[in-house]
Amino acid sequence: MAPPPPTITPTGPVGPLVTGQRYTDASGYVELVPGDAPVVIVAPHGGTQSPSALPDRSCSACVTVNDFNTQELARAIVDTFRVRTGLRPALLTNQLHRRKFDGNRDLAEATGGTAALTNTWTWWHAAIDSAKAGVVRRATRGILIDLHGHGHSVPRLELGYLLSASELRSSDTTLNITAAMGRSSVARLAADTRNAGNRGLALLRGPQSFGALIAARGYPAVPSPSDPAPLVGQEYFDGGYNTQRHGSAGGGAIDAIQIECNLSGVRDTAAARGAFASALVTALLQYLDVHYGWRPPAG
Ligand SMILES: [Zn+2]
Repeated sequence: MAPPPPTITPTGPVGPLVTGQRYTDASGYVELVPGDAPVVIVAPHGGTQSPSALPDRSCSACVTVNDFNTQELARAIVDTFRVRTGLRPALLTNQLHRRKFDGNRDLAEATGGTAALTNTWTWWHAAIDSAKAGVVRRATRGILIDLHGHGHSVPRLELGYLLSASELRSSDTTLNITAAMGRSSVARLAADTRNAGNRGLALLRGPQSFGALIAARGYPAVPSPSDPAPLVGQEYFDGGYNTQRHGSAGGGAIDAIQIECNLSGVRDTAAARGAFASALVTALLQYLDVHYGWRPPAG
């Protein structure tokens, strides 16, 4: 009898991928639902599964607290976008609780050294790459949103572009001199958004920045025109591993924004999530139109 063929573990989702279908890594820990809109939504800290077979992450600086309801919020955003446009953003969700696996860290910190999760981590980022490639194929350019929840004292959205709070407190002149936007997660768009008036720092806190568009829908955000930078002493998340790896800081066609959501009135109840998803999709569609020149097909 011939020996059984060797087991080959795919390092990413095996295509061709079907829009709206669910794909997971071999363990079922992380999930991709491919889309057909120029948007990728990633929810790395909203999983609830906690299999006892997996040890808890034990790295010394590991954060193991989940971002409550952010997977549900991500799904509400995708559903709202579909209803509004007929097209679906790609959706990536980590099903594992953060104490087991962190979908927004490098390999060592993400897995806490658990070798059994190496394939999960590799698959997760390959799946994000696959979703980004799908956007480029269909629309040339697009945006990735890494969706989180914070517990900081100021109830506002914290938009992370890889510029620190102290950098954001600098004047536009200083930031221009230091070429800060070129290191941001929207570096590409800051250089080539359609209207020259929106380029550079204006993409972060000008009148058509994402902060401006979402604040106008009733959800305060930093940075934005009315709140251009966190004050000294205020907590602020400026973007993490996914924003760095999957945005346009290092080039590439996909820009990234980390959105850290406050809890109350944004993600605490199904009604709040629905209302916020509606506002966010409105702001996102404006952003795609103004900056990328993309509009959904007329229905
Ligand atoms: Zn988070």
